[in-house]
Amino acid sequence: MTTEPAAPVTDAPSEAKPPLALYLHTPFCTSKCGYCDFNSYEGLEHLVPDYTPALVHEMELWAPAARRFRVETIFFGGGTPSLTSLDDLAAIFDGLKANFDISPTVEWSLEANPTELTLEHLQGLRALGVNRLSMGVQSMHEDELKLLERQHSPERVAQAVADARAAGFENLNLDLIFGLIDQPLERWQQTLEHILEFEPEHLSCYALTVEPGTALFYQVSKGLLPAPDPDVAADQYEWTRERLAAAGYEQYEISNWAKPGRQCRHNLVYWRAEPYLGMGAGAHSFFAGRRFANVDAPNRYEELVNASYEERTATGRTELRQIAGGETPDEATLRADAMILGLRLMEGVSLPEFAERFGVTVQDAFGPAIDRHTRLGLIEVAGDRLRLTDRGLLLSNEVFTDLLPDPDEG
Ligand code: SF4
Repeated sequence: MTTEPAAPVTDAPSEAKPPLALYLHTPFCTSKCGYCDFNSYEGLEHLVPDYTPALVHEMELWAPAARRFRVETIFFGGGTPSLTSLDDLAAIFDGLKANFDISPTVEWSLEANPTELTLEHLQGLRALGVNRLSMGVQSMHEDELKLLERQHSPERVAQAVADARAAGFENLNLDLIFGLIDQPLERWQQTLEHILEFEPEHLSCYALTVEPGTALFYQVSKGLLPAPDPDVAADQYEWTRERLAAAGYEQYEISNWAKPGRQCRHNLVYWRAEPYLGMGAGAHSFFAGRRFANVDAPNRYEELVNASYEERTATGRTELRQIAGGETPDEATLRADAMILGLRLMEGVSLPEFAERFGVTVQDAFGPAIDRHTRLGLIEVAGDRLRLTDRGLLLSNEVFTDLLPDPDEG
């Protein structure tokens, strides 16, 4: 992929610019959790020193194409971004400011692992401008954390949350996993009740999925561990919805709850199928009408970005070699994406906005599937929006599968 030559990033009034979300990926972890299928690696510490310069080089390569946007959200995910030193984070933040037009009200989220977090590091993050912390907690039971091969303890979580508050974080997300192997409803209830004592502004609660290629997948497929029970997970999910509503959280997505006004603005960009630019090893993008992803392997990523950067320095020509592959989605795919992602949100899909965006009504585009799932009680029209019903939230994959474009068409 080639971009136009470099130009100043402030050549249009900021308020006239369309919004853009930036995702930065760090692929390093101190150990690989058994259930994890993210692009993350243990034992690659030797690549860490060159990773930040490569990331900043990639920002410089993208700056010309991104200059007509204003960055409203930045999400630093992983991997374990909290392993990145404050000096490296300062360099990354300088790179962002130098190459992108960043809104003064930017939401800057950083994923953190409770294991390594210290008060000093958290204070440093706040001083750099990180204003939303997303902590991978998963469970408040020691044995469940061991099963997931997480390195932290419930006590460490409590300390990390206290330190985050002391450092001034007022926007805190905690990630949790329910539907664990042999996890009775009461055990999940204990975890969530404990978590509510921390009064986080945001909660992400995902059912455990056994992803191919993970250590957990191997153990389950070999019969060394039983598979998670979907009926227990469904009961836990329904209880979670009731409990969090009673605690003042608004469910705004299938797996996400927030106190009023604390929805994750960055993730809303994904679910609303709006543009985002990903940088770092394996980062995905939806930008300029194309979907694409960088190479996964961190060493290859560093090599390719640096080669592109050196070529641009020498010739002025920008070739984005780090991009491993991509596609320009056709209209049917874009419509299906807008429906599947939009239905994940409790607000659902706006029927007039869909018609305006695609020049066709939802009914004309998806009539048979809509009729079938309406009859089954999985989706409903509320005002001028189409959304999942309570029952549909539990069976959303059945609805989504039916909305995918027919591979034999087009
Ligand atoms: S800490 Fe997170 S990204 Fe790293 S291996 Fe565990 S689940 Fe995956």
